[in-house]
Amino acid sequence: TPSSQAARTTQSQALFARAQAVTPGGVNSPVRAFRSVGGTPRFIARANGAILTDADGNDYIDHIGSWGPMILGHNLPAVREAVIEALAGGTSFGAPGEREVLLGEAVTRITGVDRVRFVNSGTEATMSALRLARGFTGRKYILKFRGNYHGHADGLLVEAGSGLMTDAVADGGQLNRQGLGQAAPSSAGVPEEYAALTLVSEYNDPAALDALMTARGHEIAAVIFEPVVGNAGVLIPNPEFLDALHRVQAAGVLLIADEVMTGFRLSLRGATGLLGLRPDLTCWGKIIGGGLPVGAYGGRAEVMNFVSPQGPVYQAGTLSGNPLAMAAGLAMLGALEADPGVYERLNTYTAQLAEGLKAGASAAGVPISVNQIGSMLTAFHSSAPHGSIRTYTDAARSDTAAFAGWFQGMLARGIYWAPSQFESIFVSAAHTDAHLNATLEAAAQAYAALTVR
Ligand code: PMP
Repeated sequence: TPSSQAARTTQSQALFARAQAVTPGGVNSPVRAFRSVGGTPRFIARANGAILTDADGNDYIDHIGSWGPMILGHNLPAVREAVIEALAGGTSFGAPGEREVLLGEAVTRITGVDRVRFVNSGTEATMSALRLARGFTGRKYILKFRGNYHGHADGLLVEAGSGLMTDAVADGGQLNRQGLGQAAPSSAGVPEEYAALTLVSEYNDPAALDALMTARGHEIAAVIFEPVVGNAGVLIPNPEFLDALHRVQAAGVLLIADEVMTGFRLSLRGATGLLGLRPDLTCWGKIIGGGLPVGAYGGRAEVMNFVSPQGPVYQAGTLSGNPLAMAAGLAMLGALEADPGVYERLNTYTAQLAEGLKAGASAAGVPISVNQIGSMLTAFHSSAPHGSIRTYTDAARSDTAAFAGWFQGMLARGIYWAPSQFESIFVSAAHTDAHLNATLEAAAQAYAALTVR
């Protein structure tokens, strides 16, 4: 049973102090620093199944799964063994190898794209897909949605989600509107001239998208979007918005689905498979690499043949197609294909988690609003009805102080939740009924503790 005893964090504190002396903020990716929730970030020593173990030896039931890759749990034997086998043959060649062919065959067969190119991260995948879209169409503008996050390439750090949304809301959340579709960068170091090439529209607002397309569609190379958003917290697209996305293709604009989070997670064919979307290009990351650094982008041959060396759009990578990463990805996709019932089980578990959170919060009189689809879930601290949070603006109204208090209550009870209100959690097939019950018991206590302060 969960207990609220404060865990020992001596080792994590010492490591955090040393880390801050050698790297900005002590972390290699901002959300890990626990800025918006406070407290000492736990330095993780190892992970197995659904459990993270920190440097002080505390165990946590993990709800982030490395932000997505660990859909079948940490330290999956099939992935571990495939990596060890590949390791014995050398770690990088700078020349092509069979594993790249095998993973390319698996991805094209499963997803239905004609061609795929492997890169090393989700950021590289979206950055490369956008360059390709510009090269293919000869147009320079791109369009993205508020609160969607597509990695940290310059032109994408405009009204971006994830850690940038966490910071923006903490800073008062005032957005700097400069006319139809125009917006200011979300990060220092992004020249206004770059940001000016990125038009922004509201997610789930088909009329706004149609208006922007009418005014500027002929100049736009691509519309990039998260088919289900994870990076503003979970936002689920309305059918009318999906229809508006398909209308952009009629204007000769490429539709780029960013499935870095949702790919191979919401179904074997991702969110686009689940929702019946037909994008021109798709970006992947996370699961496709089995937890090693891999991203990919793909689409129909007519477009992908513009990529070098076949076409004029340059894109390269010393470690792209790395044998260890390809081996891990192959083992992961193989394991998912071998267990077609896994998606239904993940959905059942996560739906039970959603219902249990609603019950626990309601018993404690804490208003929450849950969005859940498949193994992705966000419990917003908001009095909006469940399922009604649909846009960045809706999500940004959440009570982030209440979330931070609840997050700490969960952590103290051995439950590792996403350390920001504006992130999804990720359930894995290693989560059992015992994990579910322990998580819900801790959640009910943490909700109750919020109201007795
Ligand atoms: N796109 C989406 C939808 C993401 O969620 C992320 C990262 N969470 C990225 C792109 C960037 O991927 P990476 O962090 O591997 O660069």
